[in-house]
Parts: sequence; C-alpha cells; structure tokens
Amino acid sequence: MIHIIGGGLAGCEAAWQAARAGQDVTLHEMRPVRPTLVHKTDGLAELVCSNSFRGDKLDNAVGLIKEEMRRLDSVVMAAAEVARVPAGAALAVDREVFSREVTARLATERRITIRRDEVTSVPPPAAPGDAIIIATGPLTSDALSQSIQAFVGDEHLAFYDAISPIVLADSIDRVKVFRQSRWGRSLRRDTAGAGAARTDAAPVAVAAPVEADGPACGVDDGEGDYLNCPFTKAEYDAFYDALVAAESATVHDFDSVQFFEGCLPIEVMAHRGRDTLRFGPMKPVGLEDPRTGRRPYAAVQLRQDTLAGDHFSLVGFQTQIKWADQARVLRLIPGLEHAEFVRFGMVHRNTFINGPKVLLPTWQTKTRPDLFFAGQISGVEGYVESAASGLIAGRNAARVAQGLAPLAPPRETAIGALAYYASHADPKHYQPSNITFGIMPPLETPPRDKALRKQALAERALAALDRWMR
Ligand SMILES: Cc1cc2nc3c(=O)[nH]c(=O)nc-3n(C[C@H](O)[C@H](O)[C@H](O)COP(=O)(O)OP(=O)(O)OC[C@H]3O[C@@H](n4cnc5c(N)ncnc54)[C@H](O)[C@@H]3O)c2cc1C
Repeated sequence: MIHIIGGGLAGCEAAWQAARAGQDVTLHEMRPVRPTLVHKTDGLAELVCSNSFRGDKLDNAVGLIKEEMRRLDSVVMAAAEVARVPAGAALAVDREVFSREVTARLATERRITIRRDEVTSVPPPAAPGDAIIIATGPLTSDALSQSIQAFVGDEHLAFYDAISPIVLADSIDRVKVFRQSRWGRSLRRDTAGAGAARTDAAPVAVAAPVEADGPACGVDDGEGDYLNCPFTKAEYDAFYDALVAAESATVHDFDSVQFFEGCLPIEVMAHRGRDTLRFGPMKPVGLEDPRTGRRPYAAVQLRQDTLAGDHFSLVGFQTQIKWADQARVLRLIPGLEHAEFVRFGMVHRNTFINGPKVLLPTWQTKTRPDLFFAGQISGVEGYVESAASGLIAGRNAARVAQGLAPLAPPRETAIGALAYYASHADPKHYQPSNITFGIMPPLETPPRDKALRKQALAERALAALDRWMR
C-alpha cells in the first residue's frame, strides 16, 4: 500500500502513477475537513493562482518536460488537455474543468482510495510492501510542518510568495485595451500581428522574446492571446507614484523578506526603481498599440483565466497591497478604470525542504528509503514541476513497495534534470527552481544558434527518455 499525503498536483500524479504500476494507493487530502488559506474548493489538483502551465513547445524546457510527462502517461497532462483554453503557444486551462477532470480520473481508478483527513505527523517507517509520499505543498498544515521540521532538522525552510489579482472581463474597457500577443506569436488567426513595433517612447532595450520557461508566476511568457493595457508616460508616472505610496498589507521592510525572485510583488519591484516594472511585467517590447501604430510606454497584460473568458488575470502582477488601496491603484491602469475584482492579489506562505540535504534524485529521503517528498514542498517551483516530481515519486514508491530498486530518470531529460537539481544543488543557498534548459547538462558540441541548441537539447532528452522507458 502506498500512502500519499496531499491531493494537489504532485499527490494526484503520484497516486495515478503508483496505481498504474499495480499498487493500492490511499490518497489523504485534508480539504474540506481542514481548508487552507488559499484553496477555494474541495477538488483535487486545485490551481491556486495562475491558470497557466506555461509554454507548450519543445523550444522551452517547460514544454519539453510536458512532452516527457505525456510519454510517461501523466494524468495531469491528460486532464490539462481536456481543460485547455486559448493561450497561444502556452498551455492554460479552465481551473474548474481541470480539477474536476483530475478528481474524476482518480475516483474511477479502482486501486485509489481517497480519504479526506489531515495527516498531522510524518508517518513512522512503513512495513515491507508499503511506502509513503509527502506532497502537501507550499501550504502544508501547521501540525505536519512541525513534524517535518523535526524530521529534516534546520534545513526545513519557509518563505513567502505573492499572487496576482483577477478581474471580471465585462468590467474591462475594450476601447482602451487591445488584443495582441507579444511579438505577434499568437497561434490565433484573428489576432492582430504585432511585428517589430516602432516607438518614440523612452529607451527600452529591445530584447529577444522572453522565453516560455521563465518563472511560473512572474513576467509573462511572451506568448499567448493577451489583452494589453497601454500606458503613456504620464499615465505610467501617475501609476508608479500611487503604487509606491500604497499601503502594504503585511510587510513593510521590503529587504528583510525573502520572496521567490520569479514571483516578486509589483510594489517590491517598484521600490527598486522607477523603471524596474517597465523592464519586468510592464515591459512594452514586442507590442504595438493599433490605435497609435506605436509601442506603448509601458503595458499591463491580461490573460484569459476561464474557458468562458469571463475572468482575466493581471500577468506578473502579484501584490500584497491592502485591498482598498489595491483597487484604487489598479484602477489607474488604462482600461481597468472600472475594473471589478474577482480576487485581489495577496501574500502567501511557501513551505519547502532543503532538497539537496534531504533527498535522492529518486525523490526518496536519504535517511528513509520508504519515505518520499514530492511537489512544491520537495523544493521545486511551479505546477508542472510539482506534477513531474510526483510522477517519478509515484513510480518509485511503487517499485520500493514491490521490492525493486527505485530509478532516477537520466539527467539529459528535463524530468531527470529537475530531480538532479533538487537533490544536488548547493544546499547552502538552496532555492526552489522552475525547469530550465540551464539546469540540464550542456551538449558536447552545442550548435552556435540558440534555437538549434534548444532543439538539440530537446531531441537528446526525448531520445534518452525513450531509451529509459524501454
Ligand atoms: C498562493 C499561491 C500561488 C501560487 N501561484 C502559482 C502559479 O501561479 N503558478 C505555479 O506554477 N505555481 C504557483 N504556486 C505554487 C503552487 O502551489 C505549486 O506550483 C503547486 O500547486 C504545487 O503542487 P503541490 O501538489 O506540491 O501542492 P498543492 O497543489 O498545494 O497540493 C497540496 C495538497 O496537500 C493538502 N494538504 C496540506 N497539508 C495536508 C495535511 N497535513 N494532510 C493532508 N493534506 C494536506 C492541501 O490541501 C493541498 O490540496 C502558487 C502557490 C501558492 C500557495
């Protein structure tokens, strides 16, 4: 029997994989018996913030890891396909459809039993034939967090992230905003092509398109079908001044709090300098306002959040400003003057262990081969990465229960590189990571051209995975 604690992205994927490997699984999910501060439903695999799984092509590492997961029979990828909403070259989903689909697939798998209970301590060593996976995510309940802390020692860390607001589509002023993908990279035919935008705005470095394997909830991935709110310089200055003067909900000393760099609150970025946002989530590069024929001075992008298109989230706009101030400041964004907020941005806890101190690349703990960590708590970052770690942990828990040696995927694969990073990075400065080509081993003879290099890395990864699966 495999006991999996936590029915999020990682726990559900692990349960599916272990059951498919022939093991009986009990999946313990504490909601709705004990809610978290952020989850809104009692559904499994609820996406708590962005509805985007990011890039879905092999020219970025998160697209590659998705393809690997599909080849490994991922339930998360299968459900995401059913719940897909238009997002250009990215994979975004209707979060309710997605959660419903994962829940239904697990509920109909006869080897999986779903129990609604909170596990309050790290279970004792399992009997032969059993294994345990802890996949309780960034909002692990307090009692279990304390027990994990006692188990791993001082390496058990906690730090903070912040999430973006969501607005009602009907409340967006469509006369002011325009639909366009950065660099005209939309897959939709009805979208105005952006091309290389002209500008008379202040100097903004014209960069290459931002890669879709960037941070999960940080700056947008440069792809997809976005509504863009264009700023003039005067509008940007007014917005900036209001933002830096706004009251923050919990944290006043911006330097003393440790945020994940990819998910910095906008006010933290703004305090770093007047133009910091224009090089981050408000960067205008690759956009052309069809009303002026020019690149705006700055822009906020809105991404469709539901299948029906009735909610849009502000891309990369996570914030912890107090809600009254937040509404006032965000309504200074052109097109959002009358915005109605479905959800405000907020700060949240993010609990994770120091992977390199605690874990093997099989996602087992170094001290107890029957005990695994997976998902955000294991020290990875992001929906896809969490599910990917659960996928390997689930397979390996099944192998341990069957008396077989667990297997680490080859480092040349994205899913193997992630496991290697989480178990081998420098423990002194450990930070959870999204999957990037940068954590994969370099090619022996890398092509000079960046696109060809990425293609070669992806081809090498998929060939290595296919050999490993045989
Ligand atoms: C507010 C917030 C915003 C985020 N925004 C993004 C984003 O935009 N994009 C992104 O990719 N990632 C984001 N993340 C990270 C995100 O949480 C992870 O990517 C992903 O949800 C992690 O999956 P998981 O399975 O590890 O954890 P979760 O999906 O959180 O699942 C863990 C499950 O364990 C349950 N649980 C907790 N404690 C117990 C217990 N003691 N007993 C039983 N069950 C328990 C919880 O109820 C939960 O259902 C965000 C996280 C938070 C908290």
